[in-house]
Amino acid sequence: SKGQGGNHYSFYTAEMGEQAYEHLRMEGALQRALQRGEFLLHYQPVVDIGSGRVTGVEALLRWQPQDRGMVSPAEFIPLAEETGLIVPIGDWVLQTAMRQQVAWRQAGLPLVRISVNLSARQFLGQDVAQRVAGLLAQTGCDPSWLTLEITESVLMENPVAATETMGRLAEMGVQLAIDDFGTGYSSLASLKRFPIHSLKIDRSFVMDLTQDADDAAIVNAVIALAHSMKLNVIAEGVETTEQLAFLQEHGCDQMQGYCFSRPVAPERIEAMLRRESA
Ligand code: C2E
Ligand code: CA
Ligand code: CA
Ligand code: CA
Repeated sequence: SKGQGGNHYSFYTAEMGEQAYEHLRMEGALQRALQRGEFLLHYQPVVDIGSGRVTGVEALLRWQPQDRGMVSPAEFIPLAEETGLIVPIGDWVLQTAMRQQVAWRQAGLPLVRISVNLSARQFLGQDVAQRVAGLLAQTGCDPSWLTLEITESVLMENPVAATETMGRLAEMGVQLAIDDFGTGYSSLASLKRFPIHSLKIDRSFVMDLTQDADDAAIVNAVIALAHSMKLNVIAEGVETTEQLAFLQEHGCDQMQGYCFSRPVAPERIEAMLRRESA
């Protein structure tokens, strides 16, 4: 109420001050994490639904501070994005994933596609194509086995810049995937103008697939339309064999999810690939 305006004011400033302080603290912690090498990548297998073989892996960022347990990217990516730290962190992710691809190739493991997530700021706020080109040259990574994942909302935020950047990446031979598809507001048809290779159906649709007829219909329609546009379809967050059976029946190309494997350390992926190629 009006009479308590003064109180409200001091209440809000105290809260904002606390928030600003927490931001600064986290920003410092993330900066130190980068310097101290506290980030690591885990990889989740991407499996071909037809053959059951691992055809790729998605690199997922992990933060392992010295004094506490693993921190999930959901807890720090938004802040890293806000403060701009996502740019050096994202560079580290790209470089580490590219080096991993080269290391696996040199170890004689079967080639798999490595997918790397790009945040909005990374994709729209800097010359990501030039950075990727530099890192490809530096690491010797084969661009045709690299996929960059961007979300639907990033494309729609600045379609002109996105088209330009994607065109340059595609020219280098890098593949592009739309992540979390279905959560934004774009129609599948509006994706036509972008040089996209794959579409990843968001976990929220896969989750209730076998209970919710609407979700089943959406997933079904996305697969059919994506195929008519010659796009590869990957389902995210597949946890049960019932979900997998549905996806198989409806011609989904690939899947990722706990029903096959959680994201794991690179050594575990190596063991998996060795087993498969034996
Ligand atoms: P995302 O790109 O959609 O990644 C998929 C997330 O779903 C991962 O969470 C993965 O561990 C989780 N997941 C996979 N299969 C299942 C399943 O069967 N069930 C359930 N419940 N979850 C599953 P994670 O690793 O915590 O990553 C969360 C998000 O953080 C990612 O979502 C991505 O948006 C972001 N992220 C992760 N690594 C990076 C990175 O290197 N750069 C950027 N910019 N963002 C990243
Ligand atoms: Ca992703
Ligand atoms: Ca996703
Ligand atoms: Ca998601």
